[in-house]
Amino acid sequence: MDVSPILDPLNDAQRQAVAAPAGALLVLAGAGSGKTRVLTHRVAWLVQAQRISPLSILAVTFTNKAAREMRGRIAQLLGAPAGGMWMGTFHGLCHRLLRLHFQAAGLPQDFQIIDSDDQYRLIRRVLRELNLDEAQWPPRQVQWMLNTHKEEARRSHDLPPAGDDDQQQTLLRIYRAYEELCGRFGLVDFAEILLRALELFRHNQQIRETYQRRFQHVLVDEFQDTNTIQYRWLRLLSEAHGHLFAVGDDDQSIYGWRGARVENLLRFEKDFPGATVIRLEQNYRSSGNILSAANGLIANNASRLGKELWTEAPVGEPIRLYAASNEIDEARFVVGQIEQWVARGNRRDSVALLYRSNAQSRAFEEELLSAGMPYRVYGGLRFFERAEIKDALAYLRLISSRDSDPAFERVVNLPVRGIGAKTLEQIRHRARQNRISMWQSAGEIIAGDELSPRAAGAVHRFLRLIDGMAEATANLQLGEATDYALKHSGLLEHHKNDRSERAQGRVENLEELVNAARNFTPDEEEELDALSLFLANAALEAGEGQAEEWEDCVQLMSLHSAKGLEFPLVFLCGMEEGLFPHQRSLEEPGRLEEERRLCYVGMTRAMQQLIICYAEIRRLHGREHYAQPSRFLGEIPSRHIEEIRSAQITRPLIRSAAASDGAFNGLEPGRQVRHRKFGEGMVVELEGRGEHARIQVNFAEVGPKWLVCAYANLEPV
Ligand code: ATP
Ligand code: MG
Repeated sequence: MDVSPILDPLNDAQRQAVAAPAGALLVLAGAGSGKTRVLTHRVAWLVQAQRISPLSILAVTFTNKAAREMRGRIAQLLGAPAGGMWMGTFHGLCHRLLRLHFQAAGLPQDFQIIDSDDQYRLIRRVLRELNLDEAQWPPRQVQWMLNTHKEEARRSHDLPPAGDDDQQQTLLRIYRAYEELCGRFGLVDFAEILLRALELFRHNQQIRETYQRRFQHVLVDEFQDTNTIQYRWLRLLSEAHGHLFAVGDDDQSIYGWRGARVENLLRFEKDFPGATVIRLEQNYRSSGNILSAANGLIANNASRLGKELWTEAPVGEPIRLYAASNEIDEARFVVGQIEQWVARGNRRDSVALLYRSNAQSRAFEEELLSAGMPYRVYGGLRFFERAEIKDALAYLRLISSRDSDPAFERVVNLPVRGIGAKTLEQIRHRARQNRISMWQSAGEIIAGDELSPRAAGAVHRFLRLIDGMAEATANLQLGEATDYALKHSGLLEHHKNDRSERAQGRVENLEELVNAARNFTPDEEEELDALSLFLANAALEAGEGQAEEWEDCVQLMSLHSAKGLEFPLVFLCGMEEGLFPHQRSLEEPGRLEEERRLCYVGMTRAMQQLIICYAEIRRLHGREHYAQPSRFLGEIPSRHIEEIRSAQITRPLIRSAAASDGAFNGLEPGRQVRHRKFGEGMVVELEGRGEHARIQVNFAEVGPKWLVCAYANLEPV
């Protein structure tokens, strides 16, 4: 049996882990040290050298993509696919179990998975049935509370008796009613998949033992981000034989906010007495500079197990740090760098653009589109395809054209205003019959007294709302009009009431839409009004369809979804206080450390080159921020960083844009100007466009200054 292809490409510590005797084993090691490689080779080793049937192996990966890749690697190592192995995410594997044992799990055969939006609607229904006021019981908040209980394996009957606590009593009633409703219709939400799979093992000895016997080897990647249920499930599955092979890194635990428990790593040796712990210290991914910089950053965290990575790789390029004047400049700089990288013969998909908040993708998408550079946004939709953005645009569309039926349908009852399915059907029916728009139909139906007073009142209020919004925004700038529509439609409020992370992202996206509207500059020649052009542009951008997965395209993703991946060139963008670390993390020390780990994850994705950007002024979420550079920048040892002066990089790009921009009033570098306060000086530099246009003047008395053109009132001398 030739096992050299499996063991040769490993170092000693890795080999020790891969070839370890069956038992509990934890590989605790930093980024890029080969944990995932060890896990993959371990599976191949079990099959090839230990003659373990692939049927007896269960491996948990972080994403389905990772599972596919691992399967491919294993097939390569073995020379043939290892069929029959269970490999996938926790959700995927648990779902499979439930399908196989639906009866024992107490589910109908055709049970359905519901996503977060479906769950939300269901909860609203429960609230209605219980006659509870949504103002007092915001559905999003209820959803969050229920999911938190489920993630901690608490069913309604596990909760302590509510006693005299009214709030608690009501929550219990909601939880019970929700469980009852899901049971009645065979609906299973995401948290339920995991909880039910755990209960399946807990309550059914026969099934538990079958799987304990079957899966002689349980392996799990990214162990630091398992939550309570996942950990219990793994333990139940492996307790009979204790063959649990886990790899993880406490410094990369980034899902604490979603219930992940890094303690699972720390208690491993206690829960599995006699467990082997192996540490890997050599990093194979990144250049020396990138690695030392990341090590320097993470050393600032107090609560960590502590490990230092080293590499044999050359020092490589320094980390480049670019101070952009604003987010547009940032995007331009990044795309310019990518163009150079590609021109040097590199593939586009060797580039990752990472950001903290999904709303940041918009500025990059715009710039990539106009540069004709294919890209793909992972772990999220492109900006204009996101549901909340489409909702907001639907309001704008109705304002601009009342007869748009899709827009009408989309928002007539969003946020909820008591226009039910029956009323809507009536409106639709009449519209169809009389060949009129739904807007017209709604008007006629009210006039014709065909609805109950309550429904008629609701529809009437909606029509008035839209008319009123149209009137109020008629003379506003596009950005202000958008802002107005978001606020007065109730859309913003609707998402703000929700406490979940997801809703927070939605609010940020909506605010970012205002930003997009403010920055939108229609082509001069077009006849249409700005709003119509903006809507057309949004529809086009949404419809343009991002590159296919297999295409060679630039990869855009949030830092969270970059976990486990690696890229030759990585951009870490938006490194500003309040954005990254995120505002919400600043108050809690624990959260701040999690942000730092996220930054560590981001930096350690880079193999050859890491470029970090921040903007001096950023328009995000509809506001302009004069941001401080992220504290994380100051924590990276400066010897690894090379600052790029914006002037050197952006000059050629900015010039051409600036030359044609009226904002500069014909001013050019070299011209003498006078400022009311600073006196006379020479124009050095122009950048930005429109209201973003800035000008640098070297004043005789006070030296060089950057001024915003719109306010500088410079006079040529
Ligand atoms: P992360 O913590 O980011 O998930 P990881 O510890 O899982 O990282 P891997 O992705 O397994 O690390 O490995 C990082 C890179 O180093 C990969 O490109 C891998 O192929 C390579 N690598 C790992 N071990 C070795 C080795 N012994 N020799 C050469 N290359 C290696
Ligand atoms: Mg990995």
